[in-house]
Parts: sequence; C-alpha cells; structure tokens
Amino acid sequence: MREASVEIEDEGPPAEARGPGTGAGPAWMPLVRPSIPDPERIAGDVRTILSSGTLTKGPYLDELEQRVAEYLGVRHCVAVSSCTAGLTLLLKVAGLSGEVVVPSFTFPATVHAVAWNGLDPVFCDVDRETLTLSPSAALDACGPRTSAILAVHTYGTPCAVEELATVARSRGIRLFFDAAHAFGSRSRGVPVGQFGDAEVFSLAPTKLLVGCEGGIVATNDDALAEGCRIGRDYGKAPDYDCLFVGLNARLSEIHSAVALASLEDVEERIERRNELAARYRELLGGLPGVRFPLVRPWDRSTFKDFTLVLDEAAFGLDAEGLGLALSAEGIETRRYFTPPVHRMEAYRFLMRNGPGRHLPVTEDASARVITIPLWSAMTGEEANRVAGTIRRIHEAKTVGRGTA
Ligand SMILES: *Cc1c(COP(=O)(O)O)cnc(C)c1O
Repeated sequence: MREASVEIEDEGPPAEARGPGTGAGPAWMPLVRPSIPDPERIAGDVRTILSSGTLTKGPYLDELEQRVAEYLGVRHCVAVSSCTAGLTLLLKVAGLSGEVVVPSFTFPATVHAVAWNGLDPVFCDVDRETLTLSPSAALDACGPRTSAILAVHTYGTPCAVEELATVARSRGIRLFFDAAHAFGSRSRGVPVGQFGDAEVFSLAPTKLLVGCEGGIVATNDDALAEGCRIGRDYGKAPDYDCLFVGLNARLSEIHSAVALASLEDVEERIERRNELAARYRELLGGLPGVRFPLVRPWDRSTFKDFTLVLDEAAFGLDAEGLGLALSAEGIETRRYFTPPVHRMEAYRFLMRNGPGRHLPVTEDASARVITIPLWSAMTGEEANRVAGTIRRIHEAKTVGRGTA
C-alpha cells in the first residue's frame, strides 16, 4: 500500500502565487473560476430592468432566446431557471412513460429529471474511450417499456450523436441530451443543441455560458418548445387555464441580461480552453499511467472539465491519492464523477428494484478519474504549475523503481 501524501522537494510556486504576506504555503488554486461578464455593462442593464418594472418575461429574455437560437442554429430556444428544471419540463412535455435510459457516469441532476417525472431510470454504461453514453450499451438497455434515451455530453465532449440517433430511431423512442457542459461544443461542425429531439444547457456559474443560474432548452420540435414555454409558467395557457402540472421555471430579466453579456465572448473562451487543454495534454501526455478521455478529431469540446484517467500501477498513485497530494500543494481537484449516480443513496432503491445494472466501464472510470483546474482566464503559468506538480508527485512516487 502506498501512502496518500508525498514529500516533494522543490522550490515551490513562484512568489506571486503564494498567499499574501504568509510566504509559507503556495497560493490556493481553485478548480474553476467562473467567467463573469463585464460588471459595468451588467450594472447598466440592471438599472434599465429595475426602472422598467418588467422583471421577468420581458425583452431581455426574448433577446437571449433569439440570439442563442441563432448561435446554435436551432428553431427554438426556451430559457428556464436551470438545466435541471429544463430537463424535468422537457421529459414531462414529451409525454414519456416507463423507462428512460441514462448514464450513471454523470452529475445527479440528469437522473433527477427522470425520477421527478415518475419515470424509471435505467442506468447504462459509457464508452471506455470517450466516457459518454455507449450506443451499443444503450441499445442493450432498451426494453419494451423504454420511451427515451437521455445522454450527456460529458465534460463538453459531444456524444456519439449519430449512433445514438440510429439506436433511438430503431426503437422508435425519443433522444434527448443533457448539454449542461456543452454550450459551444460541435460534432462534425454542427453545434450541440441541434441533436436529438431536444438538448438542455445550463447557465450555472461553472458552465460555459453564465447567467448566474439558468438553463436553455434547444429544439427544432415546435410541440416540445411550446410545451416547455407553457410548462415553465406553471403549465398555464393564456386564458389562465392550466393545461398540465407545470413549474415556475422562468428565467428573470436580470439573469437573461447576464447570459446575453456572457454570450458575447463565449467563442474566445472556448478557444482559450482548448489551448489550455492542448497544453495539459502536451505536458502530461507522456506520464506513465495518465490517459485523457477521447475527444474525436471531428468534434470540438468546451472542456468544461479537464479530467485525467489514472492507472495506479503505472502512475504510482491512485486518483484519490493524487487529489490529496495536489490539495497539500494548494491545488483543488474533484472526482467527476465519483461516486457514479447508481451508487448514490437516492438511487439505492433502483438496485433493489431491478433496473440497477452491471456497469463495468462506469465503475472502472469512476475509480480512476480526477478533474484538475481549468478555467477560461487561466494563464499558461497556472496550467504549468498544475502539470508540473502532478509530474513531481508522480516522480516522487516512482523514483527508484526498477533499480531495487
Ligand atoms: C451542472 C449540471 C446540471 C445541472 O445544471 P443546473 O443548471 O445547475 O440545474 C445537469 N447536468 C449536468 C451534467 C451538469 O453538470
């Protein structure tokens, strides 16, 4: 057994990276720093909104939906209060029944949207290379009660969209995407947002398009868009009759203004994140036991997260141990996604009820993944610090190997 902590002799981070006035430990580096749009511009918008008296369902919402629809190349965008609410509404208005095939290797909100609708999640394995939903496993997971597949563009990596569409078509079921990570991702040049029956983005602070909170349902399906529009407003028709049990999932004017400002430079941020990801790949790619989830050459990822898949034997430390060692060096990490959703307390009941499935790739990946810092305004030096620290931790753990 190896110990989780490591002793590393080095000169430490550059002076400007150290905590103010302490001269002791290195400066704390967070996993992510949200990209906040220009506060001066937002302040002007907020003044306009507050003095207009229209705080929700107003012109900023309309403009956001229109501009995002243009950016994504889709017929409809319906802005909502969160991605979770958008997914929940979408599954509701799609009139699903029975089971929905979902990954377990995801953020739990994906599965919550299924469960809140009284539908049964059927957990399905991911592809070993990309860590997105495996089309062949999805086909196997489909049974007579399956009414939809809900796949996730994990870390911003586009799913195997064409193969999943073929599976859905062959079974006559719906295909939806949780695109929380993937605002600006593309597959074969086609923006994520255009795939399946509908896709749902998140505007939460750590995602690509920031609205403080919020979500966007993107679809070319008129009926789904109309359903989400009514559903976000309690399910209320214009004559005040409720057509179905809706939510209050509206996006306020202030949130819409923040998201509109964030849209302006989203392309630059995605380009920058791809540069940083390339730097990480270059600096860490040669390390024994370090692998990266595959982004296929015809796809563009947002790198909402940059995740390593570790082989403990070759690297010298497992993912949990590397996380502790990096934390001791002032670098924050997370384990996206550990535990996988099917192992969470909220979903234990499914294991007993049967749909819980054998998910070997999910189990293996969740034991090996570690997500390292990456944000749009990160400097090359900051990325160098992270990569250099990982390299030194590896070397300290493996030094002297093969010479004993
Ligand atoms: C963040 C996230 C969500 C939830 O988004 P909210 O806007 O916070 O509701 C859903 N799915 C995935 C994969 C996420 O990462």
